Amino acid sequence: MRAVRFHEYGEVGVLREEEVPTPEPGPGEALVRVRACAVNHVDIDMRNGSSRLPLTLPHTLGFEIAGEVAAVGAGVTEAAAGDRVAPLYQIHCRECSWCLSGQHMHCERIAMLGVQSPGGYAEYALVPAWTLVPLPESLSFERGAAIQTTFATVWHALVDRVPVREGEWVLVNAAGSGVGTAGIQVARLLGARVIASAGSAAKLERAAALGAEATVDYTSEDLTARVLELTGGRGVDVVMESVGGDVLAASLRALAKNGSVVTVGGHAGEVVPVDVILLFRSQWSLIGSVRATADEIRTCIDLVADGKLDPVIHAALPLSQAAEAHRILEAREQFGKVLLVP
Ligand SMILES: [Zn+2]
Repeated sequence: MRAVRFHEYGEVGVLREEEVPTPEPGPGEALVRVRACAVNHVDIDMRNGSSRLPLTLPHTLGFEIAGEVAAVGAGVTEAAAGDRVAPLYQIHCRECSWCLSGQHMHCERIAMLGVQSPGGYAEYALVPAWTLVPLPESLSFERGAAIQTTFATVWHALVDRVPVREGEWVLVNAAGSGVGTAGIQVARLLGARVIASAGSAAKLERAAALGAEATVDYTSEDLTARVLELTGGRGVDVVMESVGGDVLAASLRALAKNGSVVTVGGHAGEVVPVDVILLFRSQWSLIGSVRATADEIRTCIDLVADGKLDPVIHAALPLSQAAEAHRILEAREQFGKVLLVP
């Protein structure tokens, strides 16, 4: 089969399309014919060696997949050849105390598709059969590969970790990213009023079309001042944050009393100063959120299949253009998800 792999860490040029043996499913495993695979920012970190994740080179990236079951190994009853599926990208142990309490994101022996095992930048991927989630017929493979790291991540943040209530103000940062486009839609579905921020007028125009009633360009406007102005000096109840750095610091100051910043990423700055006096006097909450539970992923797949949420797809490129897909993300040119369609 064809696969895109890298043999050394580095710039986009290290991604090479190669012919590799098609894996055979062992007991409990399923071989999935990959029809779409999302390209995520952490793929770039893995490729350039900055991810702090344990990789064995050469490595095949790609943890968010949709496709068809091509073959199953001995003892597999969960799926059969031809089934349309999306494998869970978190492969948790199902035995530790965190797994037994439903908090799969904290599993003591967690593995990820496309990290500890070869991922979906390939024609086929091998996965544990129990991780397969059925994809309804109404859901295209491309949309099916654009749900887990966006909608499920945001659902966990805004429904489980905060939660957002009807009528509240929510600021969604990085509105053009996968998480941002999902954040606007989930916040609207929950009945919130949305302010979107991004770094270009074109992205903000599209954020408004997704349901944001006001927008802020943080490259030319003061994010804190503009959000306070838009909310009549009150501030927002919740910030859906995935940027970090100065944007997170400015977002904290844009909170209403009792407000919460929920953060799922920090590429623009991993260490942020916090004014502790303001934090406690305002009763602000700074909340971390990571990934999602398997149930939350299934909920989001159902909501997309029902048309209540709709993944925004920037581009679907052939496998041979994996390097171009990484370049688009590194240049922050995308609005929504970039996919590979092997
Ligand atoms: Zn576990």
